[in-house]
Amino acid sequence: MQFALTPAQHALQARIATLASSLQDPLLHERDRACEFSRPLWQAMASAGLHLLPAPAEYGGQALGALDLALALETLGEQVPDTGLVFALAAHLCACIHPLLTFGSESQQKEWLPQIGKQGWLGAHAITEAQAGSDISAMRTRAQREGQGYRISGRKCYISNAPVCDFLIVHARTGESGSFLDYSSFVLDRHSSGVHISATPHEKLGLRTTAMGDVEFDGVWVHESQRLGKEGSGGPIFQASMAWERSCLFAMYLGTMKRQLRACWSHVEEREQFGRPLIEQQSLAHRLADMQLRYESARLLCLRAAWSLDLPQPARGDASLAAKLALSEAAVLNGLDAVHLHGALGMLSGAIERELRNALPSSVFSGGSEVLKNQLVQQLRGDYKREARGGR
Ligand SMILES: Cc1cc2nc3c(=O)[nH]c(=O)nc-3n(C[C@H](O)[C@H](O)[C@H](O)COP(=O)(O)OP(=O)(O)OC[C@H]3O[C@@H](n4cnc5c(N)ncnc54)[C@H](O)[C@@H]3O)c2cc1C
Repeated sequence: MQFALTPAQHALQARIATLASSLQDPLLHERDRACEFSRPLWQAMASAGLHLLPAPAEYGGQALGALDLALALETLGEQVPDTGLVFALAAHLCACIHPLLTFGSESQQKEWLPQIGKQGWLGAHAITEAQAGSDISAMRTRAQREGQGYRISGRKCYISNAPVCDFLIVHARTGESGSFLDYSSFVLDRHSSGVHISATPHEKLGLRTTAMGDVEFDGVWVHESQRLGKEGSGGPIFQASMAWERSCLFAMYLGTMKRQLRACWSHVEEREQFGRPLIEQQSLAHRLADMQLRYESARLLCLRAAWSLDLPQPARGDASLAAKLALSEAAVLNGLDAVHLHGALGMLSGAIERELRNALPSSVFSGGSEVLKNQLVQQLRGDYKREARGGR
């Protein structure tokens, strides 16, 4: 078993860290309060090619696999304090670029990737609906066959990047068999006739600098060449996007936790109460030990899950489920510990409380913790039963 990063992976992290120096924003605090996404910082990321990292070089990408993408997003999470900006990039890469690269035909890639590349286009991935959150089988948005294409009608909610996006990957119902094959995925321009996107982003607790909004599809006609994969392959496409989100997108939280740990160490070494530094109080030192353990265990699970996605025969989804569960739990608990260790200072508006707020949504998006635990137990129970039957 090899745990060390390769020289190429170290070089990738160093390149990303250098790029990150141009993504610092002295007005982050004000933008966070105002729920404001920064288009200039997005353009800076796009100019550096970060928005196409997994794409082949001919499209301006670096052909990164899942593990390398996780390492890149981990580095950005650590170096760029605007976690909402990194989340916007990671959601675009895992849920828009990845499906285009994996399920898009050659002609779809030739049509979409060059414009995304040259014009710095930002994508949004729309599946959730008011009545279809954890349970996507309740989806009502429908793509009705019409001529050489489909007419899409319905409303999607809580869509990251929607108010500022340039293109959308949307999932809609194309069947009524009651199976996983009832959905299809489409790629479309945000300016397509009948697409209405809420202009003002939702005001939310965390990740406030990512713009989130709702999207109405009012009889939007799309040509069948805009469908990704075959009709009915939306379920597997969604599953693949989720595996990438749960493994690669969540790596950004490894970076934020590392930054947070550094801030906590600096505080407990410098702050003195009762005549000695806080770190010399065993109960506080143990909190730091717990934070480090959560961070290290989540990192191992995350990188293992990303590594397994790069295998010729990717492992089934439980590696990414476990990674996402561990990472979201670690991010939230470490965020709470960091606030506590900083005392009143941690409660004041600033980097420490902001990272706690940024961590809180992580147990809801890309699959709520309870729903993922249900899925994990279902898989483990199947394993147990097979083993009990003697591997038959
Ligand atoms: C920051 C953020 C970004 C998002 N970005 C996007 C996006 O880009 N695109 C998109 O399509 N959607 C997006 N979403 C929506 C997200 O996918 C949904 O919030 C998620 O699927 C949960 O749905 P819900 O919010 O309706 O909660 P519900 O499904 O109503 O669940 C509420 C709670 O109940 C739990 N629960 C649900 N069912 C069960 C069960 N069977 N057993 C036990 N517990 C259960 C859930 O875990 C959750 O804690 C985003 C959400 C957030 C918070």
